[in-house]
Amino acid sequence: MGGMDQLTPSVAAMFRRAAVLKCPHCGSRRSFIKRWFGRYDRCRACGIQWHREHGFELGPIALNVVLTFGSLAIIMIVAFVATAPDYNVAGLMALVIGAAIILPLIYLPFTNTLWLAFDLAVHRPDERELAQARAAIGSEGAAAGAAVD
Ligand SMILES: [Zn+2]
Repeated sequence: MGGMDQLTPSVAAMFRRAAVLKCPHCGSRRSFIKRWFGRYDRCRACGIQWHREHGFELGPIALNVVLTFGSLAIIMIVAFVATAPDYNVAGLMALVIGAAIILPLIYLPFTNTLWLAFDLAVHRPDERELAQARAAIGSEGAAAGAAVD
C-alpha cells in the first residue's frame, strides 16, 4: 500500500509541472518532449503514455490555437495603444504576422505537456495503464516513477 499517493499527483502539481515542460505525471525533465518539436511515445522516466486515446493530438493543436489567438489579441491591443495615434500599418502587420508564425512554435511543447496534465486530471490513469507504463520502461521504472516534484 506504500506509495499510493504517487499514483495520483494533485491537479495543481500536474499543471505546475506541465508549465515548465516536466512530465505532469512524475515531474521528470526526461519526459516525452523530444528536442522542441518532437515527442516520444512515453515519458522516459515514468513510462506514462502520451497518446492516451484516439485523436489525442487534436487537443494540443486546439490549445495552441487558443493561446496564439489570445496572444495576438493582446499584442495588437498593446501595439495600437503604444503607437497611437501615429499608426505604422506596415509595421503592425509585420509584427502580428511574425507573432502568428513564431508563437505556435514556441507554445508547441507546452501544449503537449499541458494537454496531458488536463487529460490526466479529468481521466485518471487506472492500475492497468500504470502497470503498462512501468512495464514500458523496464525494471528501473518503479523507482523512477516516484520522482520528486
Ligand atoms: Zn513521467
